[in-house]
Amino acid sequence: MKIAILGTGYVGLVTGTCLADCGNEVTCIDKDAAKVLGLQQGRIPIYEPGLEELVERSSREGRLRFTTELAEGLRGARVVFICVGTPQSESGAADLSTVFAVAEAIAKVAEDPKLVVVKSTVPVGTNAKVLEILSKANIVHKAASNPEFLKEGAAIEDCTKPDRVVVGVRDQESAELLRELYAPFLRTERPFLVMSPESAEMTKYVANAMLATKISFINEMANLCERTHADINDVRRGIGHDVRIGFQFLFPGAGYGGSCFPKDIRAVISMAAEKGMESRILQSVDAVNEAQKSRLFEKIKTHYGEKLGGKTFAIWGLAFKPRTDDIREAPSLVLINELLRSGAKCRVHDPEAMDNVRSQLGDRIEYLDRPMDAVKGADALVIVTEWQEFRSPDFATLASTLRDKVVFDGRNLYEPKAPAAYGLTYHSIGRATTGPR
Ligand code: NAD
Repeated sequence: MKIAILGTGYVGLVTGTCLADCGNEVTCIDKDAAKVLGLQQGRIPIYEPGLEELVERSSREGRLRFTTELAEGLRGARVVFICVGTPQSESGAADLSTVFAVAEAIAKVAEDPKLVVVKSTVPVGTNAKVLEILSKANIVHKAASNPEFLKEGAAIEDCTKPDRVVVGVRDQESAELLRELYAPFLRTERPFLVMSPESAEMTKYVANAMLATKISFINEMANLCERTHADINDVRRGIGHDVRIGFQFLFPGAGYGGSCFPKDIRAVISMAAEKGMESRILQSVDAVNEAQKSRLFEKIKTHYGEKLGGKTFAIWGLAFKPRTDDIREAPSLVLINELLRSGAKCRVHDPEAMDNVRSQLGDRIEYLDRPMDAVKGADALVIVTEWQEFRSPDFATLASTLRDKVVFDGRNLYEPKAPAAYGLTYHSIGRATTGPR
């Protein structure tokens, strides 16, 4: 099938590439000329495991193309996916200006009938507005919703083996067209769920709201454990074996970030307010998370006192989560800014996200290519992102290198006794501090 993808970011590029990989003819359209030129020359603008190889293969075989030209990209495409960003606006609501702008452009330029599929995360009612915009054209287009559930860092796997595919349609024909398109990904009896566009739009937000709620819930419980001498990890094991609760998304930490949870939670709060309803649970989820992003800094101040001038902190992990270079709303940025404001210095390492942080913070901090290089000349280590390579460090080297022999672990990577056995003071989340005080 001929497909056009509008917006070649994390979602658009992964979706387009996976659809091309199973034989479709895909054109990815983006307004960012530098990004498109790079992709045409085989440069992948984001870090996503497995993506480069798939882009290279489908491009080489002519099934995957990149352009800035809308008319060229749309020519002959039966299905057009809208995958542009829907960032948070000043009011907290999702900013839909790009979604509507591309819908207008499709209405103006398309030469034959399209099924326009909104994949971007959008508030309920957006699909209806997109259809209204499309109906201004002389050609009769259709609009569907198909929210995306992929996780950065595992996006190819999530796209090709989805837990479920949700489509919101107004007619059976659109559902069948999308079922045909998704068939290669549904071979192991994965559910293809057909509903109204409104329910599909809502499903995406409710899924993210539920996951963010779990994170803020366990973080609040972790903070209570610290004050009551309970251990959140034991508590987590104690509740996780209850099949009604489970273990997923119940890891305490330094708060959630990324391009989705923070803005999506605020979009739901805003959607509720527009309907005269107060979303009390999600307001708390957001507030708990904002506070949790400062938890590591609070621990640092409790350890050292308010004045941090002259102290140098090694920071492991900048991306908002492992296996991505995405730093949007990353807890690491909150911490670094708090440390810099207090007069401290930062020596940072991240396997993939350093360039993105460099473009925001420049030379206000030092960037090191190896985790142990970041530790050299530092007084303490702070772990913000749980990259796999941080899980088994050489504690003896850490203890002999860190001037104050202190580790602040925002992701509970170690058994508390392990660093303490090397003379390190070890602070983590929701567990007692171990080692010398
Ligand atoms: P992104 O910012 O990485 O990509 C958006 C792309 O759209 C950019 O490349 C940008 O240049 C392009 N663009 C902007 N205006 C354009 C225009 N007028 N014409 C053509 N291209 C244009 O965003 P993303 O992370 O891929 O997210 C896209 C949508 O998917 C958002 O609504 C997001 O909430 C949702 N989503 C994201 C994820 C994720 O993990 N990133 C997961 C599920 C859903």
